[in-house]
Amino acid sequence: MRRQALPLALADGRRPEVTVISVNTVIVGAGAAGLRCAEALYDLGQRDLAVVFDHLGHGTSIDAGSDKQTYYKIGLFGDEPDSPMDFARSLFQGGMMHGDLAYVEGLGSAPAFFELCRIGVPFPQNRFGGYVGYKTDHDPRQRATSAGPKTSKYMAERLLEQVRLRQIPILDHHDAVRLLTLGDGAARRVAGVLCLHRDEHFREAYGLTVINARNVVLATGGPGELYRRSVWPHGQVGSHGLALAAGVVANNLTELQYGLASIGFRWNLSGTYQQVIPDYYSTAADGVSDRRRFLHDYFPDLPSLASAIFLKGYQWPFHAARLQDHGSSLVDLAVHLETEAGRRVFMDFMNNPSPAPGQPPFALADLQPEARRYLERSGALQSTPYERLRHMNPQSIELYAEHGVDLREPLEIAVCAQHCNGGLRGNLWWETSLANLFAIGELNGTHGVRPGGSALNSGQVGALRAAQYIARVYAEPPPSAGELLSAVSGQIADQLAEYDGWLRHSGGLALGPLRRSIQERMSRAGAQVRSLPVVEAALREARDLCRQIAADGIHCTTPRDLPRATQDKWLALTSVAFLEALRAYIERGGGSRGASMVLDPAGSLSVATRHGAILPHRPECLAHRGEILEVSLVEGSLCDVATVPVPVRPLPVDASWFETTWAAFCRGEIYR
Ligand SMILES: Cc1cc2nc3c(=O)[nH]c(=O)nc-3n(C[C@H](O)[C@H](O)[C@H](O)COP(=O)(O)OP(=O)(O)OC[C@H]3O[C@@H](n4cnc5c(N)ncnc54)[C@H](O)[C@@H]3O)c2cc1C
Repeated sequence: MRRQALPLALADGRRPEVTVISVNTVIVGAGAAGLRCAEALYDLGQRDLAVVFDHLGHGTSIDAGSDKQTYYKIGLFGDEPDSPMDFARSLFQGGMMHGDLAYVEGLGSAPAFFELCRIGVPFPQNRFGGYVGYKTDHDPRQRATSAGPKTSKYMAERLLEQVRLRQIPILDHHDAVRLLTLGDGAARRVAGVLCLHRDEHFREAYGLTVINARNVVLATGGPGELYRRSVWPHGQVGSHGLALAAGVVANNLTELQYGLASIGFRWNLSGTYQQVIPDYYSTAADGVSDRRRFLHDYFPDLPSLASAIFLKGYQWPFHAARLQDHGSSLVDLAVHLETEAGRRVFMDFMNNPSPAPGQPPFALADLQPEARRYLERSGALQSTPYERLRHMNPQSIELYAEHGVDLREPLEIAVCAQHCNGGLRGNLWWETSLANLFAIGELNGTHGVRPGGSALNSGQVGALRAAQYIARVYAEPPPSAGELLSAVSGQIADQLAEYDGWLRHSGGLALGPLRRSIQERMSRAGAQVRSLPVVEAALREARDLCRQIAADGIHCTTPRDLPRATQDKWLALTSVAFLEALRAYIERGGGSRGASMVLDPAGSLSVATRHGAILPHRPECLAHRGEILEVSLVEGSLCDVATVPVPVRPLPVDASWFETTWAAFCRGEIYR
C-alpha cells in the first residue's frame, strides 16, 4: 500500500490536497465476508491490499444473531449422504437462483467451513470429530450448525485476527462514497473508490481520500437502514445505491426476509425463544392499557395457537405459504396488523399462552405431537416458558441480560426486516457487471428464496472465489497515483462540488428527518405485506426524493454530517431500485412467495380469522421461480430504474474428467 498527498486541480483554480492510497485490491467492509476475502487474497500471494470500513467492530456479522445463529453447510457427519449437487438443489429449488451459482456454493461449502474451524470458530463436534448438524427451514437434511447465538461474531473476530496476523493494512473511519471508473462501453472498469476519512473532515477537501485500486471488493453488507422496523444492527446501509449509480446491475431485490424480533435491543426471536411457547399480547400505544390476546382471532383453539408459536422456532421468517391452515406465519401477520394499527406487542416468558374465554387452560400435553415430542425429548416440561428457556438455552437469556434486558419482563417485539437475499449481480467469481468490481457477502444477490442460515456460507464461498480470481487474473498493480488522479479528477471534482453545495446551501433537505422518511416508506410499502397501489405510490415519493436531493442537496451544517448525508442519498436511490423491482414483479403477475404476500382484491387466497376472511392475496405463481429480475439505473438518468426478467440458468451437469480438468487448471482456462 502506498500513500501520497497530491493536489487536485479544480476548474475554479483551487488545488485542495487529497490523499491517494494505491493498492492492487481494496476491500470495503470488514464483516465476515470482507475479512475472509482479505485473508484469502494474502494467502494466495496478493500482498498489496487494504481493508477500509466505516467503524471497525460494527456491522451485521459482529452485532447480529439469534438464539442459535445458523451456519448452513454441506452435511459432514454420520451416515447421511450429501453432495455439492444435492446442496445446490436445496438452494436452487426455492427459485430465483442460477443453478451454476448454487453449485459453486455447494462445492465451496466444505472448504469454507473447514477454514473457519481451522482459525478457531467454535463449531461443536462430537467425540468422533463429527460436526453434528440440525435441520433448518427448507432444509431436507441436517446440514445446519451453529457456534451459538453469536456465530457470525465469532467468525468476524477470528477472521480479523487472521487479517491482523498478516499485517494487512486496515483503514478505519473511511466511508466509501463513490466508485471511480475508467473507460467506456465494454472497456469500462472500476478504477478505485472515493472515501470520506472521518478523522480528516476539517481539511479543504473534507477528508476525501482516493483509493487507487486495480480491484475493488465491496463487502458492505445488507441495506438494514432502509426499514424502520429492522433487526439489522443500527447503521447498516450496504452500498447498493453507490453501485447502482456507477451502472452496476443488481438482481432479486424483491427477496428479503422478515420475522419477529425485539425492537429495543434488536435481536432475532427465533429458535428456542419460540419453542418454549411464551404468551403474546398487545396493548394500546401507552404499553399498558387495553391488553389483548390478539392471536385468538386467528386460531380456533389454544393447542393450535401454541403449536404455531412453537413452530415459529424453526419456521422463523415470515412465509406466505404458512398463512393457510393455521400455519405459523399467522403469528407474524397478527403481530404486523397490531403494530400497523398503532398498538404495541409483547412476548411474555413468565406466562404460558392464555386461553380465550371458555377455552381450557394451556397444557403441554395438549400440544400437537411435533411440539410435544420436541419438548419431551429436550426435557423441557417446566411450568413456565422462562423456566423452559433457562433449561434449553441459558445463553439466550444471558445474551439479553448482557444488553440490560431481563426476559422475566415483557419483551416488546415487531415483525422486522432481517436479511436481503438479493443484491448486486455477480458471475461465477462474484465479479459484478462492472469489470474489476466484486460484490461479496450479503451485498451479493445470489439467492432467491433459500434455506435458513445459508447467507454465511454464501459469504465465505464468494469471498474465496473473488480472491482466487483476483490473485490469478487481476494481479497487476494499479496505475500511478498521478495518472489515476488526472484520469478521474472530474469525478472527484463533482463529488467535492456536491459537498460544497450541501455545506453552503441552507435550502437543502433537512438531514435529521430524511432517513426516517425513507424507512417509513419502505416499511409501509416494501416489507412483508405488499400491494401494487401502495408500491406505486411509494415509488413516486421515492423518486421525488431523489430528484429533490439532486436539485436542492442535503443541508449539512458541518463536514461531519457528510458521511450520513451521503448514505441517505444512496439509500434514497436504493429504495427506488427496490420499489421498482417490487412494482415490476407484481405488475408481471408475481404472487405471494417467500417472505412476502401480495395483496390483491381478486386474489384467490385469504386469511381466515374468527371474524371472517381478510386480506385477499395472490398465490405464488410458480413460473416466476424460473426467472430473476435484474435491475439497473437507466444510463444518464438520476433515478429511472430498468428491470429485465432473466431466465435462471439450470443446475449444471458436471461430468468433468480429471486429466482434462488438470490441464485446463494449469493453463488458467478455468477463469475464462
Ligand atoms: C438478526 C440477524 C440474524 C441473522 N442470522 C443469520 C443466520 O442464522 N445464518 C446466516 O447465514 N445469516 C444470518 N444473518 C445474516 C448474516 O449475519 C449476514 O448476512 C452477514 O453477517 C453479512 O456479512 P457481510 O460480511 O456481508 O456484511 P457485514 O457483516 O454487514 O459487514 C459489512 C461492513 O461494511 C461496512 N460498510 C457498509 N457500507 C460501507 C461504506 N460505504 N463504507 C465503508 N464501510 C461500509 C459496515 O459498517 C460493516 O462493517 C442474520 C442477520 C441478522 C441481522
